[in-house]
Amino acid sequence: MIDFQALKGSTNIKDVATGYLRLEVTQDRDALRAPCPSCKGDNPRALIITPAKGLFYCFDARKGGDLISLVSHCHGTTDRESAEALAKVYMNDQIHDEPKAKEEPKPKATRGFDSEKYIKSLKREQEDVSRFGVSAELCEATGMGLCTKGINRGKLAIPVRLENGTLIGFVGVSGDVSAPKKWRIA
Ligand SMILES: [Zn+2]
Repeated sequence: MIDFQALKGSTNIKDVATGYLRLEVTQDRDALRAPCPSCKGDNPRALIITPAKGLFYCFDARKGGDLISLVSHCHGTTDRESAEALAKVYMNDQIHDEPKAKEEPKPKATRGFDSEKYIKSLKREQEDVSRFGVSAELCEATGMGLCTKGINRGKLAIPVRLENGTLIGFVGVSGDVSAPKKWRIA
């Protein structure tokens, strides 16, 4: 889907009229005049384009609008079709980037282990974690918590991260983890 506002920011009605539509414009003070390729009358001044306002008006059809409507009027296309055609010309980069962004693979859990899901499955109420000598607040801040299934069942699962923050797994401890009384939790 084309962002109409972004498209309008990438070009202007004068460029569209003279460049994209190749209208035979003549300067008329602050405006441009041209025959209307859609209405096909013999009036060489049927179209008036006012670049300062970004608007046009067709005196034959008694219709007007912005640069997208101008293309729609001249080519007999819908505004959406016009916007897509214009975007291909004036928004090349964005058009090419869009599908790429969508195709970007979502980060996958390594070896079938969903660490995010696992971390959410841990229990962090004070009653769950006080037996390990840690607070619910600390568990909330660090992601550790009581594990209720698998090999760490009944243990405190502590996330193990690389220095860059990447979570690589969990270690399970039973008993008191001897956490310092006061942690600095940013
Ligand atoms: Zn017209």
